[in-house]
Amino acid sequence: MSHSSEWVPSVWMDTFNELLSDDSELDYEDQWTFNFNYRQTAKLTTEERKRGWKISNPHVHGKFQCASCKNIWSSARVVLLFRYRLRSGRGIVIMRPFGQACRRCKNNMFCLPGVSNTNVEEALLKLFAKIRKNCYGEKDDNDIGSQQKNFKLTKPHESTLCEACQTGFCSERME
Ligand SMILES: [Zn+2]
Ligand SMILES: [Zn+2]
Repeated sequence: MSHSSEWVPSVWMDTFNELLSDDSELDYEDQWTFNFNYRQTAKLTTEERKRGWKISNPHVHGKFQCASCKNIWSSARVVLLFRYRLRSGRGIVIMRPFGQACRRCKNNMFCLPGVSNTNVEEALLKLFAKIRKNCYGEKDDNDIGSQQKNFKLTKPHESTLCEACQTGFCSERME
């Protein structure tokens, strides 16, 4: 996978639709749509909460490439944000990927993550588990969540290079 450091939104959208239509991850009659919003905030307002919005923030393994020096690095903590709600039979998911900056250039330019198909699928399966639990009241019978605890960080997380940390979102999730 030579181009895996590239951010490809269509992979996320296609995988989302495949998991719904082929694998029936949400086996209900409702219509779900998937969108991106690269500026959405990481916290729900009271108003949003009232309107039924919920948030999920899994992290995945991904790769980045600096646009100026072409430096490539991988990260075990690519932070993702999903806002979702189900209302009157219509479900919406809005995704925001958080970027990382190049440690060589330190130019505060956050690159977006390239994520392998397997890891995209894994992240979306976690999201569907959340949706089944929080929108459909299913019991959380899989322990996908516990897998994340086995995640080994190969190097310390560099907060100054992490967009999620910079927006005050990632660091509070650190163990
Ligand atoms: Zn660079
Ligand atoms: Zn961070």
